[in-house]
Amino acid sequence: MDNYRGKNVVITGGGSGIGFATAKLLADGGARVLITGRSQATLDTALERLGGNAVAVRGDVAALSDLDTLAERARDELGTVEALFVNAGIAATMPFASTTEQFYDEMFAINAKGAYFTVRKLAPLLSTGAGVVLTTSTANVTSLPATGVYSASKAALRSMARTLAGELLPRGIRVNAISPGPVDTGILGTTMPEAEAERFVAERAAENPMGRLGTPGEIARAVAFLAFDATYTTGAELVVDGGATQL
Ligand code: NAD
Repeated sequence: MDNYRGKNVVITGGGSGIGFATAKLLADGGARVLITGRSQATLDTALERLGGNAVAVRGDVAALSDLDTLAERARDELGTVEALFVNAGIAATMPFASTTEQFYDEMFAINAKGAYFTVRKLAPLLSTGAGVVLTTSTANVTSLPATGVYSASKAALRSMARTLAGELLPRGIRVNAISPGPVDTGILGTTMPEAEAERFVAERAAENPMGRLGTPGEIARAVAFLAFDATYTTGAELVVDGGATQL
């Protein structure tokens, strides 16, 4: 149960869904965990469930000043960081023909720029042998209707796993991407009317080879593997999608 004792972990978007499940797995295993997200209420609820070995810092990953604050707090609270889970993100659909500049810019500001600068700002704290995991998505290789902007932002993350792995290899730091298929969290269908969202989610489950959505815990275990156990793996992508993109 104490697999992660002595390890310090930072998780963006750690208050809910996949990020929270990963925080819980690692905190239960003895890690000290710092979570960040935009909603103080969500972070407070998460902290209550994580127990005493966790701390929360509210902030927007798209704002570089917030990332500076996050890095300062991480230095004060943790000192060094052995695992960084770059997981904060948004998902939304918008038809190609009506895509707005604002929609495009917000998606890339959070999913792509936010991820890149999270690594950039926290890199000085990463210890030798640390693992960085970036959350991409199987959307980076699929072509569902109206997902062009989200998919492109997640493809950027797949690319960053390779380039940042090269940048950080001289310091003995590994960088990998986790690529979830449809996972049962609040993010699925968030921008759709309720009935449409329910249909979207039901379709994703029905079309999956395993006939269901993944759970946040199933992704968390793969993240923990990449962050701590995959010591000969860097620049890679681990697909966890019930076989959706493979079968
Ligand atoms: P979620 O909505 O529960 O988690 C997203 C988290 O990111 C939230 O805690 C939110 O507060 C945080 N966040 C969003 N914008 C932020 C910002 N600007 N600054 C700081 N924090 C911000 O949903 P989830 O499914 O757990 O999503 C986690 C990651 O997994 C996302 O990057 C998402 O794109 C990716 N993903 C999810 C699925 C899925 O089906 N659930 C599939 C593939 C990839």
